[in-house]
Amino acid sequence: MFMIRIEDVISKVEKNRPESNIELIRRAYLFSALHHKGQKRASGEPYLVHPLEVADILAEMRLDETSVSTGLLHDVVEDTLVDLETIREYFGDEITRLVDGLTKIAHISNLSKEKQQAENVRKMVLAMTTDVRVVLIKLADRLHNMRTMQFLKPEKRTRISQETLDIYAPIAHRLGMGKLRGELEDLSFKNLYPQDYKKISHEVEARRPELEAALEKITNTIREHLSENDVPFVEIQGRVKRLFSLWKKLKKRKLSIEQVYDLIAARIITQNDKKYCYLTLSVIHDVWTPVPERFKDWIAIPRDNLYQSLHTSVIGDNGQSFEVQIRTEEMHQIAEEGVAAHWKYKESKLGKREEDKSLDELRKTVEKLLLPLVENTSENQDSEEFIESLKLDLYPKDVYAFTPMGKIIQLPRGATLIDFAYAIHSEVGDNCTGAKINSRIVPLRNELQNGDVIEILTTPNSKPSRDWLNYATTSRARNRIRHWIAEQQRADSIEMGRKLLEKEADKFRLSPKKLLNNENEMKRIANEYGLGRAEDLLASIGYGKTLPRNILGKFLGAEKFAELDPDKRKETRLQTATKAVKKFIGLGEDAILVKGIDNLLTARARCCNPLRGEEIVGYISLGKGVVVHNKRCKNVQQLMINKDRVVEVEWAKSEKEEIQSVRILATTENRTGMLAGITNAIAEIKTGIRDASARVSKENRGIIEVTVEVFDKKHLDRVVGSIEQVPGVIAVERVNS
Ligand code: MN
Repeated sequence: MFMIRIEDVISKVEKNRPESNIELIRRAYLFSALHHKGQKRASGEPYLVHPLEVADILAEMRLDETSVSTGLLHDVVEDTLVDLETIREYFGDEITRLVDGLTKIAHISNLSKEKQQAENVRKMVLAMTTDVRVVLIKLADRLHNMRTMQFLKPEKRTRISQETLDIYAPIAHRLGMGKLRGELEDLSFKNLYPQDYKKISHEVEARRPELEAALEKITNTIREHLSENDVPFVEIQGRVKRLFSLWKKLKKRKLSIEQVYDLIAARIITQNDKKYCYLTLSVIHDVWTPVPERFKDWIAIPRDNLYQSLHTSVIGDNGQSFEVQIRTEEMHQIAEEGVAAHWKYKESKLGKREEDKSLDELRKTVEKLLLPLVENTSENQDSEEFIESLKLDLYPKDVYAFTPMGKIIQLPRGATLIDFAYAIHSEVGDNCTGAKINSRIVPLRNELQNGDVIEILTTPNSKPSRDWLNYATTSRARNRIRHWIAEQQRADSIEMGRKLLEKEADKFRLSPKKLLNNENEMKRIANEYGLGRAEDLLASIGYGKTLPRNILGKFLGAEKFAELDPDKRKETRLQTATKAVKKFIGLGEDAILVKGIDNLLTARARCCNPLRGEEIVGYISLGKGVVVHNKRCKNVQQLMINKDRVVEVEWAKSEKEEIQSVRILATTENRTGMLAGITNAIAEIKTGIRDASARVSKENRGIIEVTVEVFDKKHLDRVVGSIEQVPGVIAVERVNS
């Protein structure tokens, strides 16, 4: 296996910073080698490989001898018997301070994961603002650990990758270190979502020849046109998007890879004068049509993290768009290396003596970038809150809203006020009656926006509503609402069961109280049905699974039951009491014809007013008994969620024909005599008309409304049929109410 040597690191430093103190680096190397002697990494390699690789990354970043030496020594205090005083003796104050800063970031134990993260970030940020080299070394350390992760246990891999994605990649981004951030993100992605990673990299690989051919064509075209127009350039790059950012885009927009057009992008690096960037841009816009909203001038207005570049998207020859970035060499270096590059440039312009001053300037820049993250925080602050507020700054993907007391609530994008209420506390959610966003009352279905200050209005006895499920997005809120609905339905069923049992007891001339208050007896009967408590038995009656009559049978015993049975006592009366609508409750083993108990338990649903002969369905509802709906009624679709309460019903035969009023609406051409024509047609089939009216609609149609008296659906169909025969009639429909 290839193993890095200290000479490789030294030659990089000598090349990048010829005046460096190489002797210091050699001493740091020997010290590290001596103290890590015998230690091994998870891969089985000597431990020394790790500090050497970290030092190499730092040398690659063109950092100074102090940083490279600290890279070699960064784990000595943490992992060997060496203490800080010994480091100070051998290497002086500056390196000691850096090693101390790094050790402190690594060494926080006995804290919860979240607390540990919060503390880590806080310490890192504070350390960075005094000396940015601490974070650069820490990032190099993390990068090497991420690169060699395959030897760790899966659990540890996941934890470290998540932390990298949550904390280190965003900090690298904040510091403008685009290259390092990209690598950290891709490595975390690979470890956290191995299957997605595999899939997406296969897909990209499969398309690579095609993509490279397209890139080749694009870069050639750019080269030709720039030369033709005498616009100088340093380099033209073509690249395929990074896997992590590609994956995020696919997920966010729910696209497949075939649907992503800008898989590829071109980058033009110009000489160090921004005028070349704008000249290049004009050539690009001359060759291809730009997409108007996609042009960004980060040169005129640099990003916070010092990034400068022109971005434009253009429509390629095949009709697919791609991005072109244009920047100077210096801007490019800053885009890739962030503050590290900034440092180098500052220093190269100044003499060695001025180095302190340039470091100072850099420190100010870093402070400006990072200090807002930890401002107004303290050691004692709630770690969770701190992490939340940190994420607020680092991540724009979630929504952050505030309580009136200033507490941050983090929710996924698309979350509504209901989600917010439940995120505060489940009781706040349950009792929520309304909400104010930034002091304005708004409907609960409103989506949250970043920075909203939200006050949830509650009333102590207020309860959740089923339709909240239509706009609650978090699982916490949804589970809680569902739980409440289930509880409510159970309470309703118990109440319903109690009423049914009382009525049945009445018919047996029994005191309902005598039965219901006899707890032992009720429990015994419940047990016979395999149920635990009396309440369960009542609920079972309420759901229509158990018949109250059977309960009385078990309560009274066979002999007494037969004696008191009203069916036997008054057979004839009962038959006449059986009303037009018979109900079959066809659930469970007790599927038995239930005669209309005092006719109290059926009602025609007002919403659809079912007509004899139409398909119907019953729904047990509290206080109303079985409400009978037309099967096609819209409300029924919603009721169907609660299958336990749906009962089969059917129209019973009836000796006497029952008359029902139904309203019919006919749309006709706008001509005279339509109303008369229609009423005649109805009268001809010997049907009563209760009411009729006519008007003209905005669309210049005749609208005729008739209320007719019909026996059943067949009868209604005949009426509708005869109206349809009247010349000039366009459409006929039944209206419900
Ligand atoms: Mn390390």
